[in-house]
Amino acid sequence: MPRLRASLAAHLPAFGFAAYPTVFLVGANAGIVPIDAGAVAQSLAVALGAAALLVLAAGLMPWQRDARLGWLSLVVLFCVLYQPIMAVAGLGGRLFTPDTASAAAAFVLVIAVIAGAVVRPWASRPRSTLAVNAALAALFVASASGPLTRAIAAGGKRWPSVVEAQLARALADQSAPTPAHDIYYFVLDGFGRPDVLQSQYGLDLSEFVNGLAGKGVRVAASAQSNYAQTYLSLASTLNMTYLDDLAGVVGADARDRRPLRHLIDRNTLMTAARRAGYRVYSIGSDYGATQTIAAADVCICQRHGFDELQSNVLALTPLGSLPLARWTYDAHRSKIVEGLDAVDQVRTLPGRKFVFVHVLAPHPPFVLNADGGAVQASRPFDIGDGDDFRGDKGEYIQGYRGQVRYLARRLLGLVERLTEQAGPAPVIVMHGDHGPGSGLHWNSASASDLRERMAIFAAYAFPGEPAGLAPGITPINAARFLARRYLGLNMAPLEDVSYFSTKDNPYRFIQVAAAEATARR
Ligand SMILES: [Zn+2]
Repeated sequence: MPRLRASLAAHLPAFGFAAYPTVFLVGANAGIVPIDAGAVAQSLAVALGAAALLVLAAGLMPWQRDARLGWLSLVVLFCVLYQPIMAVAGLGGRLFTPDTASAAAAFVLVIAVIAGAVVRPWASRPRSTLAVNAALAALFVASASGPLTRAIAAGGKRWPSVVEAQLARALADQSAPTPAHDIYYFVLDGFGRPDVLQSQYGLDLSEFVNGLAGKGVRVAASAQSNYAQTYLSLASTLNMTYLDDLAGVVGADARDRRPLRHLIDRNTLMTAARRAGYRVYSIGSDYGATQTIAAADVCICQRHGFDELQSNVLALTPLGSLPLARWTYDAHRSKIVEGLDAVDQVRTLPGRKFVFVHVLAPHPPFVLNADGGAVQASRPFDIGDGDDFRGDKGEYIQGYRGQVRYLARRLLGLVERLTEQAGPAPVIVMHGDHGPGSGLHWNSASASDLRERMAIFAAYAFPGEPAGLAPGITPINAARFLARRYLGLNMAPLEDVSYFSTKDNPYRFIQVAAAEATARR
């Protein structure tokens, strides 16, 4: 028994350290970004598997067991702190960059030597790693305390009832007409308005815009988004309402995005379409907001490779520098391409369809060039936008341009096939959930380029409605128009308003004046 106890005490730190990146990320994000429990379990399993390998490998060392495990604990701890250590090492120059496999290998080698010098496992009396184990315990407690306090604070949560009441209110007054047109609803993540893309990205989209117009899909000249972030934008658009009621319940200081995830999952638009007799297809992205949508009849939501959490966990450690593109960049690229391909597969299916597509492009990371060829940054995979984007502005602009050109070509082809196929003309809505983020500062409205962020690409084809929509219409009102005209919902237009909010206070809405979003450079 004492042997087992000693063995457990010696092994646990290595396992604990291996799991630490997952605990850290979940702790930092719990309730902010909704995290799938399955992903957590998988990531932990991968981390623990890595630790098991380390422990096995340690058996090959001719040192005393406790000393060898103490040495390993130290190595793993440094690996967990890889990003911050490399950030400090890289200060004042680009001598050390954590993004290459050679830097990662050199790092592991150096810390293995340093840890050896500290623990001296070959000596007859190796040094104890008690201090390291104590540091581990402190890190775990610090990481776990965040979600714990948030879970306690959310004990009296009232938002699910607000969401349900809102849904019931919207649907109470539905006079279901017979579905007469297929409906295609594209959300193109981060697709900005053509005039802004022309002036700030040197992109000429006139061929795309004219091509769409030739097929009856009109681009709104001064469209703006209602919100500046994906979760807020999708939750409001798919429920055709501003989020003030929800913000009133969760509080302006809330960071919790679970209510938004719930709104997307249970959304009014798809529920109304189903009740109106449509078969609802949701073609999701690999971003948490639309990985699955419960309100759809059919979710085309296959994912390849690592999910968001797993990529982020790996990127924290030297493992992120391994050649993992197949499970990160390549998987993400496939998801974008296959999402668009899926529209072609669904469009020929029998029955009236409501097809929702969320494409995580032209939003970073930039993985496709104009011809659809592969692009890949030489750094661990990361979907961060704005000041979370890890490249420079030149890289952002070049990558964004390529991805917009690719999308424009694919979308125009799709629209041609959708409008040319037999049957009644389809309803087509396509818009950005917000604009690009090369000038976005996540936690400052005043430092951000609000014009770039709030001006969106938006295009509509509403058969039987030749007048079209106002050029400055926001997605909430376009969706209300769609629901009123084709789904029988009694939804009067609302005022068109755009709100910025920071990453840390997503529910503290800062109204962006139309003038600010259009005139500012
Ligand atoms: Zn977005």
